[in-house]
Parts: sequence; C-alpha cells; structure tokens
Amino acid sequence: MDIYRHPTFDMACEQFDLVADRLEIGQVERERVKYPKRALVVAVPVRMDDGRVQVFSGYRVQHHLSLGPTKGGLRFHPDVTLGEVAALAMWMSWKCALTGLPYGGAKGGVACDPRALSIGELERLTRRFTQELISFIGPQIDIPAPDVGTNEQTMAWIMDTYSNHHGHSVPGVVTGKPVNLGGSLGRREATGRGVGYLVGRAMDVLGMETRDSTVVVQGYGNVGSVAAASLAKHGAKILAVSDAFGGVFNAQGLDLNALNEHVEKTRSVVGFAGADAITNAQLLELKCDVLIPAALERQITAENAPRIQCRILAEGANGPTTPDADLILDQRPEIFVIPDILANAGGVVVSYFEWVQDLQSFFWTEAEVVDKLFRILETAFTQTTGYAKQNKVSMRMAALTLGIKRVWEAKKQRGLFP
Ligand code: NAD
Repeated sequence: MDIYRHPTFDMACEQFDLVADRLEIGQVERERVKYPKRALVVAVPVRMDDGRVQVFSGYRVQHHLSLGPTKGGLRFHPDVTLGEVAALAMWMSWKCALTGLPYGGAKGGVACDPRALSIGELERLTRRFTQELISFIGPQIDIPAPDVGTNEQTMAWIMDTYSNHHGHSVPGVVTGKPVNLGGSLGRREATGRGVGYLVGRAMDVLGMETRDSTVVVQGYGNVGSVAAASLAKHGAKILAVSDAFGGVFNAQGLDLNALNEHVEKTRSVVGFAGADAITNAQLLELKCDVLIPAALERQITAENAPRIQCRILAEGANGPTTPDADLILDQRPEIFVIPDILANAGGVVVSYFEWVQDLQSFFWTEAEVVDKLFRILETAFTQTTGYAKQNKVSMRMAALTLGIKRVWEAKKQRGLFP
C-alpha cells in the first residue's frame, strides 16, 4: 500500500505488526485488518478574499467497516497528507474497538494553515470540502468530528452544508457541533476530561495523589487546556504548557485563568507575563509527575526518550511516541504510559453519545454524559492494566492488542463477501 507511505503510517503499521505477531494473525488476514478499506482524495477550490482561486488538497480515509459506520476527526493543518490521515484512521479503529464503540476508524483533513485564512475563507473551504465528500459521509456511513485546527464552528458548517444537500437537518452527520445544533453537553471537554480521569486512575495504581503533583502539557489546544484544567481542579500544579509557537514555564505553577485570558487575546501562550519562555523540546524533558503530549505525532523519539523525566506519560495526542522511543520506555518501568488510544478516547466516546442523542432526538444532561464517559473509560483502563499485568506487556501493547483483536474477530465472524 505504497500510496499511504509516510513516517506516521509506517509507525502505525509497525505497531500493528508487533501485535499481529503476538496474536499470530496470518499474512492474508493481517493485510485485511491492517490496511484502510477506502480513501478519497479531493481538490478543494476556494475563492479567496482577494478574488484569487486557491486549490487545497483534502483527504478522508475510512479504515474498516466491519463494526458499523466509521468515525474520526478532521484536521486542518499544513502538514496533512494521505499517509498521515491513514495512520490516524487506523488508530481510531483500535481506539473505538478498545472502548467497545460500534464504529470503524476514519480520519480526514485539508492541507492548509487555518490561522492564515479569514473566517470567510475558512467557511468556504469547509463547505466546499464537505460538498466533495457528500456521498462519502453520513450518519450511517462516516461521521467526522473536530481535530487539530477544526472546532465546533467547522462542524456547524459541515452539518449545514450536508443538511442543505439533503433538504432537511441531519445533525448526526458530525459530532462536536455546538450544543444548540444537536451537539452534546460535555463533548468539547470530553477528551481532556478523559485524560484527567485516566491520570487520576494511574495515580491510584501508583499510590500517588493528584494534589500538589506537577504537570507539563505540550499543545495547549482543546485537549491540552482541558486536561490541564481538570488536573488543576484537583490541586495539581501546571508547571509548563506550549503551543506551535513555543512554551511557558513557572516552577510555582501557572495561573491558568490569567493564561487563558492571555491566550484569548493573543491566540498563543507565548509572551504570558506570569512565566518564563521555554522551547517545546525543553518542555518535554522537564522533571514532573505527569507529562501530557497533546499536540502532534512523533514528539517523543529515540533521541529524547532517555531524558524524559515524568512518572506518568499520558498521551493526549495521537501517536506522540515513536516505536523506537517505545523500546526505550519499555526499559524504564518507572514511567507509567497511558497510551494514546486509551488516554484520549474520551473524545470519541462522547462523540458516540452525541451521535446516539442525535439519532434519537433525545438529549442527556452533562452529568449523565460525564458519568457514562467515566464508566466506559474505567472499563477500558481496567481491561488494559489487567491485560498488561497478566501478559507482562507494556500498556501500549495491551491496549493495541485488545483493540486489534476485536476488529480481527469481527472480520472473522462476518466472513468474506461474496
Ligand atoms: P487543537 O488544534 O485544539 O490544539 C493543538 C495544539 O497543539 C495547539 O495549541 C497548537 O498550537 C499546538 N501545536 C501544534 N503543533 C505543535 C508543535 N509542533 N509543538 C507544540 N505544540 C503544537 O487540537 P486538539 O483537538 O487539542 O488535538 C490535539 C491532539 O489531540 C491531536 O493529536 C489530536 O489528534 C488529538 N485528539 C484530539 C481529540 C479531540 O477531541 N479534539 C480527540 C482525540 C485525540
């Protein structure tokens, strides 16, 4: 499958092959479980504010269709490629299977810099991209959600474009919408809140306390900021946070309210008065109790893994740790890893709740959402720690094995058509 060639896709395949070896999945079945079912690449012409027409590349990959419709985020970022999206779709499959959701994985995106586009250009880009995808998505086919560079407004435009095409409102076509349009209470906070919950559970296992623990977050976006807030609420000290432009550090702990005001005004953490500047590379190596990479893939590598100084590595981002780095972390039992497909699963779990609420036109309270979210995460955490302990494997190997095994079994049970 050379069309997907990309370092992140190779990394996802490498992780898969390790599990497939463990489960002794035969060669033919291995390919069937591993490779994406289908992918769409589209040219997205957009009229820019100055009258020019610029053509952007858009992608959507649906990894497998064996357990239900596909589900996964849409990323607007300059580095989006088919291979990156395919890797992210594959991880979504294992994540949905690990948490018992009736979905295959998907992912999509547009190679663009959303910060360099006006709001009008962003809306036209989103609507045209949706139009190009129109027969490829739908509540029973594939349901996009926010990811890096997209948000509730993006989902509202997609829902509106899709609904206009069908002649009636179809809220179930996307999740992560504004609550007013059929979004779920607690969806925006779900991923970060889930990270916070699972860090708490890891601390229980390790005999640690959240109060006065120290936390470092790479990527102060949706996931990172909510994870930081949920741990701070329980008394943790947030030592450092960063974004694509740099980081800020305060050994006494950052004042998150003041920091959020600064980010609101300047759209970056950089220049925050209550802290010193720090680079993203330095931030990852800070001594802390909890390190939360919540930005992009391949941040913890064989190069910096020996110098990471945390007790808990909670992967808010998808694929932040390379397989080479994993080999090093496997030799460092003092670091408890909460792997991405478990750590950030809160987002897709509440997206599932949103989809269910939309299909039934019956909406839940935030307390119901959070209670059901924590129950699902608790089960996935218990199963993963249990499997890791019983089989003497890493938490990543345990989580991936549980997820991949379910997809493999579903394919065997359904058989081969025709
Ligand atoms: P976001 O766009 O809200 O935030 C991303 C943050 O990362 C921004 O602050 C950005 O400036 C920063 N960033 C980008 N490049 C960086 C770099 N090279 N170094 C440091 N910081 C950088 O996106 P998000 O939704 O918070 O997603 C973050 C990660 O979490 C991604 O890996 C995404 O796939 C994953 N994730 C998101 C969700 C969700 O519900 N949003 C769910 C599961 C996983």
